[in-house]
Order: sequence, then structure tokens, then C-alpha cells
Amino acid sequence: MRRLHVKDWRIVSLGGVHLYILLHFLIWYIFDVKLWGKTAMMGVPSLLAGHINAAAIMIMIILFSIPLYGRAFCGWACHLRGAIEFSDWVLRKWNISSYQRLRKKNILLNTRFRWQLRSIIFFVLLLPVIMYWARCEYHFYFNIQTPSPLADLPGNNNLLFSVNAPLNVSLATNGLTVLDFIIPFGVGIFIVFTMTFIINFFYGQGAFCRILCPYTVLLVPLMNLNPYQKKITRISDCIGCRACSNRCPQGIDVSREIYHFDGKVINRECIKCYNCIDACQNQTLKDSGKKASLQTKLIKDYENIPWLNPHKHLQIFEPVNPVIDFISIIFALICGSATSRLGGFWFYVGAIGGYIIFRKLMYNGPSGNSVE
Ligand code: SF4
Ligand code: SF4
Ligand code: SF4
Repeated sequence: MRRLHVKDWRIVSLGGVHLYILLHFLIWYIFDVKLWGKTAMMGVPSLLAGHINAAAIMIMIILFSIPLYGRAFCGWACHLRGAIEFSDWVLRKWNISSYQRLRKKNILLNTRFRWQLRSIIFFVLLLPVIMYWARCEYHFYFNIQTPSPLADLPGNNNLLFSVNAPLNVSLATNGLTVLDFIIPFGVGIFIVFTMTFIINFFYGQGAFCRILCPYTVLLVPLMNLNPYQKKITRISDCIGCRACSNRCPQGIDVSREIYHFDGKVINRECIKCYNCIDACQNQTLKDSGKKASLQTKLIKDYENIPWLNPHKHLQIFEPVNPVIDFISIIFALICGSATSRLGGFWFYVGAIGGYIIFRKLMYNGPSGNSVE
């Protein structure tokens, strides 16, 4: 029998998260048990508004795991990451040449403004909390019930958009039908996967995580609290073959990183997927909180060009024109704000759609390919 690799376990874990969410829906809607938590977008606003519900507890578990394991949550338990990896798998199976080119060269668009973008999106996510505070409606209470699992998805209350949306479409008129369950799942899953397919296709694997995800604003500052936090670590001499760097879905130059930073991957974009460990035939890498082993042999390439050479698979491939890049982010936020009037979930649809459309209008060909 084939030995299971770490990546296989990760697939099991990411698939398990989807099953967990499915189970949560079924238990909530069919058996009327409303105690389970989920990986909810509502978690952050709930927590910051003092509402300790199941979604907030989920967010707390995530936050406590960061100092110990870094962004392992991202690599192993985020449902969106599961969707992103699934679309990456399908795009590879379809053998789409432009995508394969992006992937092979590991050209990943990491806009230099991604932190501003993430912070602004995070701010938008927190707007309801800020409104609570501004109106002095802050009440601390403990309620284990999670927000309704479908509250933010199309199909809740038999409506395509949220109940407060300025326009709406009714999905069912004669009471609750099986369609009421199928449509929200179908539309939700379709939109999530479409978002991941499209954004992967244009900007390389995992682009949503590298450019847009607002949760990184919350996760990353906690990463360096613990000096013994587990990080990808060199445990024997590295030969500089770069197999690890070429396999990193986050565009981290693992090989250089361990060479220049005391044998550790200190890059905060690391999601602990362990692709680099799997790729290393030399068994040089391990996820560890201990000190790295010393590198006894110099790697000339890395000595000559110590860091930040854009032609060597570095983390950041700068966009061609930073002004256009910045405007595209603002445009994405405006589009996201407009569509969020239809419900919180729709923020992402507008922001991502706006981002892609703007960049397509500005460039001939996909932005990912236009990056030098
Ligand atoms: S960066 Fe965001 S979308 Fe990506 S895995 Fe982490 S939490 Fe999920
Ligand atoms: S550095 Fe290794 S573990 Fe971290 S994201 Fe890259 S491949 Fe995955
Ligand atoms: S795959 Fe292993 S030996 Fe090759 S560069 Fe990476 S850590 Fe070094």
C-alpha cells in the first residue's frame, strides 16, 4: 500500500472541514440542534462585539493556535483553502497551458499593497462592530449558539440576497422545499469555487490568500509572540536544489529563506502545508521549534545575490505599475462595498470581480503573466 504523504493528510483535513460544515448545516436545519460552531465570517465581529457564541469560540481557538503552530489553520483547516486547492488540482488536470506556466515558474502575484488591502477589507468586515460601539450598543453576553449557518449565504430565508438587501429574488413560494437546501448550498459552493477558480487562473495558486484575505491581518501579528513557535527548519545541510522553493504555494523562497535566516522559514505567509518538506529529497526540512542545524557548505548563488533578486523565485513579484495596482485595489473595495449591500457574503464576489475586471482592462493579458 502507498505510504500516505503529508499532503494526503492535508487533503483529508481540508475535506473533513467541508464535511464538518455540511454536518453542521444538517444538524442545525434538520435536527434543530443549534449548538455547533463553524468557521464563520461572523466570528470576528461577534468576538469584538462581546458576543461569545460558537463562531467567536472558533476564532479564539484559531488565535490561540497561531503562537504555537503559526498559520497551520490556513493550511489545514480553512474551508476556502480547501476550495483553492481543489481548483488548483482541477486546473492542473485540465492542463491549461497558461496556468501551468504560472505554476511552473511559480510566478505569484503578491501585490506590494496587499497589507493595506487586507487591512481595509478587515476594516470593512468590522464595520458592524464599529457601528455598535459608535451607538454605545456594546453588550457583553455569553450565548453558545452560533449565528445561523446560512445567514450570510444566498438562499437564507428563501431569498437570493440577505433580508436587508435593497432588491431581492424569492427562491421558493410554497413553504420549505428541498430546493431551499439545495439552492443555498449550490449557489454558495458554486460562488466559492468560481471565485477560487477565477482568481487562481489569473494570479496563480492561492492568490486569494496572498492578496485579498482579510484574516491574515488578524493572524500574522500573533505569529512572533512565541520564540519557540514551530517553523520550517533546516535539520541537515541544504544543497540548494530549490525543489522546496518551486513547490511552495505561497511563493516563499524556502531555500533562500533557510539560508539567510538561521535555518528558519520566517516568512509570515507560510501556511504550514509541508509541500516543501515533501519536495526535499535530502530530508533537510522539518517543522520544529528547535534551533536549526548549521549550514556547513556555502551556496555560492545565495552568497553572490543575497536577497531580493526578482528573477530567483522570490516571495514578492512586484506588479508592473504600482499606481495601477493600488487603484485596482481601491476599485475592488468599491465594488465589494456595493455588492455587500446584498449581504456580507457578496462582498467577496464584488471585490474579486472588480479586481479582476479592472486589471484586465488595464493590461493586455492576465496580470500574473505581465509580472516581470
Ligand atoms: S489566508 Fe485566508 S483564505 Fe487563505 S487559508 Fe488563511 S484564512 Fe483561509
Ligand atoms: S514554506 Fe513550506 S510549509 Fe510554508 S507554505 Fe511554503 S511549502 Fe508550505
Ligand atoms: S529541497 Fe531540500 S536540499 Fe533542496 S533547496 Fe530545498 S531544503 Fe535544500
